[in-house]
Amino acid sequence: MREHGFRETLICRLEKIKGGNLYRQIQPVEGPQEEWVTIRGQKTLSLSSNNYLGLANHPSLKKAAVRAVKEFGCGAGASRLISGSMIAHEKLETRLAQFKKTESALVFPTGYHANLGTLSALMGQDDIIFSDALNHASIIDGCRLSGANIKVFRHRDMDHLKKLLKEHTAYQHRLIVVDTVFSMDGDIAPLADIVELAKTHNTWVMVDEAHATGVFGPNGAGIVEKLGLSQDIDIQMGTLGKALGCMGAYVAGNHDLIEWLTNKSRGFIYTTALLPSAAATALAALELVQKEPIRRIHLMENSSLLRNDLSQLGFNLGSSSSQIIPVLIGSESTTLSLQEELFNRGVWGQAVRPPTIPMGTSRIRLTPMATHTKDQLRQVVTAFSEAGRALGII
Ligand SMILES: *Cc1c(COP(=O)(O)O)cnc(C)c1O
Repeated sequence: MREHGFRETLICRLEKIKGGNLYRQIQPVEGPQEEWVTIRGQKTLSLSSNNYLGLANHPSLKKAAVRAVKEFGCGAGASRLISGSMIAHEKLETRLAQFKKTESALVFPTGYHANLGTLSALMGQDDIIFSDALNHASIIDGCRLSGANIKVFRHRDMDHLKKLLKEHTAYQHRLIVVDTVFSMDGDIAPLADIVELAKTHNTWVMVDEAHATGVFGPNGAGIVEKLGLSQDIDIQMGTLGKALGCMGAYVAGNHDLIEWLTNKSRGFIYTTALLPSAAATALAALELVQKEPIRRIHLMENSSLLRNDLSQLGFNLGSSSSQIIPVLIGSESTTLSLQEELFNRGVWGQAVRPPTIPMGTSRIRLTPMATHTKDQLRQVVTAFSEAGRALGII
């Protein structure tokens, strides 16, 4: 037997992450994504999906999906530049551009593709990217893949960003990139200040509205819409997989941006297009998002209820001001114990550990849905109260 054989190496590596309480396991869930999910045979309240508006199992979306399968079949055949661009994608892009108040939009198979494919197509080795320290992994990977110089500014720290902008001027093109709603902390980027700095320092701006699309703004188009900054952002990215309850992602901006990405974005060109049924489903989701603002209102009410009650119990929720509520614990093992204690009380709250978040900031990441009832949320608070006391956290 080889001493450093393939399997032995993997087992050794796995043991190491298990030892550090960083081992991850896929948890099978029965049935659709809803407020209640069945895990290990137990019915639990899910506070762990990004299906914020409860659209993933909505009858209108399912109907749109089934109808689209009948009309367009299953697969898209190839990349859209190869097999031709199907009507479902075209319609969705037209609608997305309206929704985001931009000239144009381009659909990607996932948000991961969109961020990698956009950052790497736009930026290169003569350029520099200013990136928030808590940006999503797909932005980090996109920055790295682009080959551009990268300067990471302290999370939401505008003085630090300004200092870096002043220090690093000798580049061909400069770009600031941020999540608008941070995925693991639920706080919000100071976008108006960022736009101001970008203007003063002649820098492009890209935003990732993954957790804001469908949630913020009068029409649910995101933080950019809420703040009226549509004309000031060069690149607006978002996903269809979270509040829209579907799958895929978009980049919205001017015609030339979309033309450039169509020609140069490897995350768009070298991958099979989104399922046409997914495009049709996302279109149905956009209709609902615009027609039923009450879902956003319920989501905000539910988020406030949970934030108020949990902080009153003495839990540390960081700076969350959205539907993403981190219950900050710190130690990996205590976070895992809390997850288990909550599960035993019928609550599914996902433990988030490094490298998803910085070392020593492990947490239970709670994400209420618009469709949770107040009673269900009170059940969650009770579970936290009991579990927190059992573990000596509160
Ligand atoms: C989820 C997420 C993505 C990736 O989107 P997918 O469509 O799930 O690939 C990108 N950015 C942020 C901030 C996210 O939270």
